[in-house]
Amino acid sequence: MGRMLTALSDRALELGPARTAPQEGNWRLATDRDYVAWLVLDRPDRSVNTIDRSVIEELDRHLGTIAEQKPTALVIRSAKPTGFAVGADIQQFVGASTAEIHGMLEEAHHVLDRLASLEAKTIAVVHGHCLGAGLEIALACDRRIAVADASLGFPEVMLGLHPGLGGTYRATAIADPIEAMTMMLTGRSVSARKAKAIGLVDAVAEERHVGAAVEAALYGDLPPRGGSFKAQAFSLKPARAFAAGQMRRKTAEKAAKAHYPAPYRLIDLWEAHGGDPETMRHEEVKSFAELIETETAQNLVRVFFLREAMRGLKEGASAIRHVHVVGAGAMGGEIAAFAAGRGFHVTLGDIAAEPIGKAMRAATKMLERTLKDKIKVRDALDRLTPDPRGFGIRHADLVIEAAPEKPDLKRKIYAEIEPQLKDGALLATNTSALKLAELAEGLADPSRFVGLHFFNPVSRMQLVEIVHHDRIDPKTARRATAFAVELSKLPAPLASAPGFLVNRALTPYMAEALVILDEGVPKERIDRTAEDFGMPMGPIELTDQVGLDIALDVATSLRRDLDTAYPETPGWLKAMVEEGRLGRKTGRGLYEWDEDGKPKKKKVEALPDDSRSDPDLLDRLILPMLNAVVACLREGVVEREDIADGAMIFGTGFAPFRGGPLHYARSRGVDAIVARMRELEGKHGPRFAADAGWERLKG
Ligand code: NAD
Repeated sequence: MGRMLTALSDRALELGPARTAPQEGNWRLATDRDYVAWLVLDRPDRSVNTIDRSVIEELDRHLGTIAEQKPTALVIRSAKPTGFAVGADIQQFVGASTAEIHGMLEEAHHVLDRLASLEAKTIAVVHGHCLGAGLEIALACDRRIAVADASLGFPEVMLGLHPGLGGTYRATAIADPIEAMTMMLTGRSVSARKAKAIGLVDAVAEERHVGAAVEAALYGDLPPRGGSFKAQAFSLKPARAFAAGQMRRKTAEKAAKAHYPAPYRLIDLWEAHGGDPETMRHEEVKSFAELIETETAQNLVRVFFLREAMRGLKEGASAIRHVHVVGAGAMGGEIAAFAAGRGFHVTLGDIAAEPIGKAMRAATKMLERTLKDKIKVRDALDRLTPDPRGFGIRHADLVIEAAPEKPDLKRKIYAEIEPQLKDGALLATNTSALKLAELAEGLADPSRFVGLHFFNPVSRMQLVEIVHHDRIDPKTARRATAFAVELSKLPAPLASAPGFLVNRALTPYMAEALVILDEGVPKERIDRTAEDFGMPMGPIELTDQVGLDIALDVATSLRRDLDTAYPETPGWLKAMVEEGRLGRKTGRGLYEWDEDGKPKKKKVEALPDDSRSDPDLLDRLILPMLNAVVACLREGVVEREDIADGAMIFGTGFAPFRGGPLHYARSRGVDAIVARMRELEGKHGPRFAADAGWERLKG
């Protein structure tokens, strides 16, 4: 046994990441002295393994060799430090047709079936990310060993798809089928420990014990695995029908069938054919190939690449390690905690002691929720230091000001901070709407000044607007962008203009909703109209969330600073603000809010109004938002269309399955939209005038 272990770990080392010789293929095959074949996935010139046709074809050739050589066993693993495989190469889905994908999947299934029926015992050892098609390869092996750091999942649903390489029937047969279905329906990954608990893997081992674990699997020390007990129970249709009903209800809470067909397809597939792998295999391929051509899948694939494009804006490292945050209120507290959670050293200051204490308590909660690991939470809290006297300023590589939205106050704070900054340190503001040039007026060195506009809640919103100004040093902008990516956020570089991009686009959406409300349309109907389009939250609820006072402030300042027609704010809104009815934060706004922070809404179906069939309602809400994005593009507030789309998706939740506002506009037809706006302008006034920027989009 001992000798065996040494041999295996020696072999694993020889095949590991240290290897430097140039490599041609994606896989390396070697047989060790115990006649165990090791097949190691290591795609050349890539930091992570993805699965594409070439990987599958090569796997097929290696399986041919293995079948001839008849080794004692086959072990499959990856040489990449980051993990086993992150899934299919998504590039191959761009613009793919049903027929192409069908053919490709049939071939790939053939190869995985060959792996599954290999005479030799097959063991997959997975570490780090083991996702999608990577996990499906592992599932075609007899046994799976997960290294303790592994995270296993099926993210296909996020692309409007479901697993297509056998995942639907292998995962539900091997693991607890309800847990496996949940993984596929939500796209959420599970830890190695959870994977073991639900039967997806047979053992969990620390990396240094992988040799012993493989040995145990080879020599039968692992408990026998005869298909999961639960899988047996759900081989009966009535049991599946009952569970499928529950799954449909849960899925409907998150994703509408009309917009996100994939999870519903998966449930149908399993309900109809679970326990019949042959039919399921056939139906899985058919359904996957059909889904790939849907607009939803193609748009979600686009969103995947938008995210990559935004991350790709990072050039080099930020060289920021210590961040000091000024102002421990709603935003500053969260920014500080989030940055500490991502590995930065953070000091947190405020003019008052009380907000710092409150922020520290909130930080613990937020970190527990986001990091989900006691040791990581403890380490993050160790990196976060309350600093009421601002000692951290002179050590910080970046100071983020998150004080109240008052220009004089902000300038006064900079006057105190700037002389203390060390060489090369950046000064950032989290302002939502103030002009950066004006804030920079008193600075000795405005070249180091930048806007880092985070969104509320910081832990959930992925976008950070990186706001430039005339006197910024490009290096400052570059470092701020890199910092956002290092925080695992998505940066959108923007010129400083009123409302930047996201607030400028959201304001007309919210303002128009108030006008419609004023016309007598029930608020629930307005919200539902926007939600049915795919917005995460209707504009009335959003106004309550943001706070009526803040919404009013932003609308007033945009109306003042922009040469754009806005609807008049109804007088009752101002009265509500004066009364202190500010929305969610005061428990009452346009809605009444319950103690769990949820608005009390009437059932839309029961509303007596006849606005349900008003064809203008949706366009009155959505088109002004699109118009504002087009104006930002024309004015150069944002340079690239894809970044504008990404910023709106990741900053407002703009219906991802529509691929972003500009993409939506293009697929609906720019001419059609301009004509529609003209019509609305005739009916409702100049606020619907199409921006001149639409002309450029026509080309
Ligand atoms: P907040 O009122 O919750 O917090 C501001 C904090 O700054 C308070 O704790 C206050 O004590 C402190 N402060 C006041 N004067 C100070 C001084 N001289 N030195 C140090 N600290 C001082 O405000 P907030 O909502 O966190 O907003 C902060 C900034 O972030 C604003 O510019 C706002 O526009 C922007 N912002 C807010 C949101 C949001 O949704 N709340 C979203 C994005 C950006």
